[in-house]
Amino acid sequence: MGKVTGFIEIERHDRTYKPAADRIRNFKEFVIPLEERDLERQAARCMDCGIPFCHNGCPVNNQIPDWNDLVYNSDWEEASRNLHSTNNFPEFTGRICPAPCEAACTLNIDDSPVTIKTIECAIVDRAWDEGWIKPQIAETKTGKRIAVVGSGPAGMAAAQQLARVGHEVHLYEKNETPGGLLRLGIPDFKMEKHLIDRRMDQMIAEGVVLHCGIHIGVDMTAAELEANHDAVLLCGGSEMPRDLPVDGRELDGVHFAMDFLPQQNRRVAGSNLGEVEPILASAKHVVVIGGGDTGSDCIGTSIRQGALSVVQLEIMPEPPERENKGLTWPHWPLKMRTSSSQEEGAERDFAVTTMSMGGENGHVTHINCARVDEKFQPIAGTEFELKADLVLLAMGFVHPVAEGLINDLELELDGRGNVLADTNAYATNRDKVFSAGDMRRGQSLVVWAIREGRQAARSVDAFLMGSSELPR
Ligand SMILES: Cc1cc2nc3c(=O)[nH]c(=O)nc-3n(C[C@H](O)[C@H](O)[C@H](O)COP(=O)(O)OP(=O)(O)OC[C@H]3O[C@@H](n4cnc5c(N)ncnc54)[C@H](O)[C@@H]3O)c2cc1C
Ligand code: SF4
Repeated sequence: MGKVTGFIEIERHDRTYKPAADRIRNFKEFVIPLEERDLERQAARCMDCGIPFCHNGCPVNNQIPDWNDLVYNSDWEEASRNLHSTNNFPEFTGRICPAPCEAACTLNIDDSPVTIKTIECAIVDRAWDEGWIKPQIAETKTGKRIAVVGSGPAGMAAAQQLARVGHEVHLYEKNETPGGLLRLGIPDFKMEKHLIDRRMDQMIAEGVVLHCGIHIGVDMTAAELEANHDAVLLCGGSEMPRDLPVDGRELDGVHFAMDFLPQQNRRVAGSNLGEVEPILASAKHVVVIGGGDTGSDCIGTSIRQGALSVVQLEIMPEPPERENKGLTWPHWPLKMRTSSSQEEGAERDFAVTTMSMGGENGHVTHINCARVDEKFQPIAGTEFELKADLVLLAMGFVHPVAEGLINDLELELDGRGNVLADTNAYATNRDKVFSAGDMRRGQSLVVWAIREGRQAARSVDAFLMGSSELPR
């Protein structure tokens, strides 16, 4: 523990954002990092708790008190080594993780947790700037050939771990670029995409062979995949969106969030949108249905595209401003949170359901809503109409797409339609086929995908070699 009285003397101080009026003019990141001196002071607030709840709250079990101490003592290079021992991609989580570690921090009992996520991000950004992050090339090769299907954070983490212990890893991705939802779902203003390219360059130098534009189950059959590899790890994500089967759903102008967001990410990247119909919020009244991360990303993107208004509807009741710490800490609390995108000018409404959508000449013009009771049933007499030229459905994802690869491999599914595999072996019912990330656990978070990718890599390595040195 760096400074014994740090948490008493030093106030919590976190990164700030550029003003909304400036940041909505482009799709760039807008977080203003803390100065080095400030970061070291913030790290000094860590109490090195006997039971570090932060470490348990973090899905990759980052050794948070250790690197807080290293930062306080200005040993940033060792802090980076320590951080990378549990997390392959801290520059992703340091930007977009909701930070369950901070909810779990002992100082959060007092609403002033250590600024863990900011320190994490600063450690890894500095490590890249200083040139401390280098490819870790295996000294000996095992001669084993592994297919990792899906290049989201789960597939990337698994591929990197497996290449580092000497396997020949082939990472297959159906899209034109790697990264999964990091690349095409999460907007650039939350995480710029050169960060993925830089990591992929590192992974390619470590021996990962990247095959983009290969849809397994379409461009390569499941049988070929199995025949050509000693083990197969499926990290295809949870891509089936939850639909809203109401009258008017078929109208033009009603789209899934994941039809809208990838288009903008491709525009920012300067890639070709192909034959698809452009979906733009410019000069439109936008209604976003769904209150989670995806909904927020639709808001920020719509505002940057020049929407006239953005309303976000959530079926759940408005959560409390402040959680009851005695009941929730150190767990993730349900409380009112306002994302940077919501701050930029969206109107939010809670406990609302969509009854139908109406339109003219085949195009949506409005949606018909009603307030709901505690059983989510519409309350008679509370109906209202909202103007809408663009409706974005952001109500989450139900399970992976089974048609194609999953069905061809005859994989067993769990009760929710995810690929059935436990979190010990990550093995499916089919010999030498494993699964991790959202495809196995259902829609989740980047940090959970990294954890599952790392753990599944260990299991695949042990399956091929009899034992594994990789961490769990
Ligand atoms: C809009 C949006 C915003 C989000 N924001 C956040 C956030 O701020 N913070 C956070 O922690 N989480 C966020 N999430 C959740 C997070 O992105 C996911 O939990 C995470 O990306 C899951 O990682 P994954 O590797 O399991 O799957 P994915 O990232 O979904 O990657 C799966 C990859 O597999 C590929 N694939 C699928 N099938 C095949 C096949 N047959 N052949 C070849 N390739 C295939 C897909 O093209 C995709 O690239 C967000 C999700 C969305 C949709
Ligand atoms: S819980 Fe908070 S104060 Fe305690 S070790 Fe973790 S970061 Fe430091």
